[in-house]
Amino acid sequence: MTSFKLGGMTFGSLFKKPETCQYPAEKKEAPVGLRGHIVIDEDKCILCGICQKACPCDAINVDRKGRIWAIYSFHCILCDSCVRACPRQALSTSPDLKSVTTGKFESVSFIPDPKVDKA
Ligand code: SF4
Ligand code: SF4
Repeated sequence: MTSFKLGGMTFGSLFKKPETCQYPAEKKEAPVGLRGHIVIDEDKCILCGICQKACPCDAINVDRKGRIWAIYSFHCILCDSCVRACPRQALSTSPDLKSVTTGKFESVSFIPDPKVDKA
């Protein structure tokens, strides 16, 4: 009985469009609500470090002295904890997928210093 079912599915799939695509040459439309990656609005961030503490995967690194906010996307599981924890609403989830890469690296954002910018 199972083999009949499997045979039917296999035969049926011969006449369907493939479910996969040749990514990154071809891209599928992102489904509604997809969490592609975390983005930061550098102008809102105050380098408080709350997102770093909220992250269960140690994916975020906040360096106050160097005025750097960094995310290691390969650790991020897109749980949204950092987005909810940020007191300045500086973080959000973009539905865009990250571009293809051949290396593992942190995405680094330099946070502008309001004192320097005002001077
Ligand atoms: S992104 Fe938000 S929570 Fe994280 S350091 Fe900046 S202000 Fe603080
Ligand atoms: S979405 Fe979750 S895992 Fe990813 S950086 Fe934010 S808190 Fe960490």
